[in-house]
Amino acid sequence: MAEIKLNHVSKRWGEFVGVDDFDLTIADREFLVLLGPSGCGKTTTMRMIAGLEDVTEGTIEVDGQVVNDLDPKDRDIAMVFQSYGLYPNMNVYENVRFPLKVRKVEGDHDAKVRRAAEMVELTPFLDRKPAELSGGQRQRVALARAIVREPNVFLMDEPLSNLDAKLRVSTRAQIKNLSHELQVTTVYVTHDQIEAMTLADRVVVMSKGVVQQVGTPVEIYDNPANTFVAGFIGSPAMNLMQGTIRGGTFEGRNVRIPGLTAPDGEATVGFRAEDAAIAPTSAEIDAKVYTMELLGDATMIAVKAGGELVSVKAPKEYRAEIGAPVSISVPAAICHVFDGTSGRRVA
Ligand code: ATP
Repeated sequence: MAEIKLNHVSKRWGEFVGVDDFDLTIADREFLVLLGPSGCGKTTTMRMIAGLEDVTEGTIEVDGQVVNDLDPKDRDIAMVFQSYGLYPNMNVYENVRFPLKVRKVEGDHDAKVRRAAEMVELTPFLDRKPAELSGGQRQRVALARAIVREPNVFLMDEPLSNLDAKLRVSTRAQIKNLSHELQVTTVYVTHDQIEAMTLADRVVVMSKGVVQQVGTPVEIYDNPANTFVAGFIGSPAMNLMQGTIRGGTFEGRNVRIPGLTAPDGEATVGFRAEDAAIAPTSAEIDAKVYTMELLGDATMIAVKAGGELVSVKAPKEYRAEIGAPVSISVPAAICHVFDGTSGRRVA
């Protein structure tokens, strides 16, 4: 059992604020993903939970106990990093056993090592040295080494980033499966939104040290709290267009969307590529075809409207000449509306 509570946690180095007022309870057995661009403070947050970084302000509790002053080794936490951190002179078996030895864990080490190896399908490789393994296999050794301790908390920092695209997908599935099987509270750091969406029970989206939104993948996708989240989540990310709303009608360059229930003023209107459509007659957006990508099950069209690129998902058989005029249907019902200044969601 491990519930982790971050109470108004901040990290500063001099004037620089790395993490600003992070306030969240991570439920027992939850898979929480910290997501955001490089430098947004995800790793620092995780390192504070691990005890590898001092907390400047606030407290961190694990199961009701404040751990701010507890050494990393005294926290019941196992970590997995992108650089696997394996000992090159030890074989897989010895690498996986290592944490049991250093911690002088009692019981049958051999059975624990073999069980962990089995869980990540490493049994045939127990005699090999790390240099004799592929990147994916090395990462699985790092996972087995974390599992073997049977910790209450897993912390994972971009564990898939050194793997190629295909291995990333299969290892991702394995991590998801393992976390489900082991029922361990997991905090997972990534800048890859697809990883976040596929793995997380809840995602924390961060930017510049500040939490932008916390929610399930569906909540964050369907209801982004601001333009940062809207522009970060989804592939492609949400289309965002600037303009003004007067009496429920949004107007920008080459765009006119009536029927919105949103306050008058400067606004950013967002909509997803899959919600918009190529229109047979004049519709909300007048644009020119910029490029087309065949996705197999659909065709992704990028069009240029008033200088901005907008993505629209079209049927797979759709074809158009680059530069051809095209109209895009963006009914009010599919629009997300954000305040033009603060970027916060208003409708
Ligand atoms: P990445 O995905 O690149 O690892 P991140 O979101 O994990 O990024 P952090 O490593 O948490 O980001 O860093 C957050 C900010 O704090 C960055 O701007 C970084 O330069 C800064 N930072 C990190 N460690 C220190 C330090 N020891 N001293 C000063 N600034 C630091």
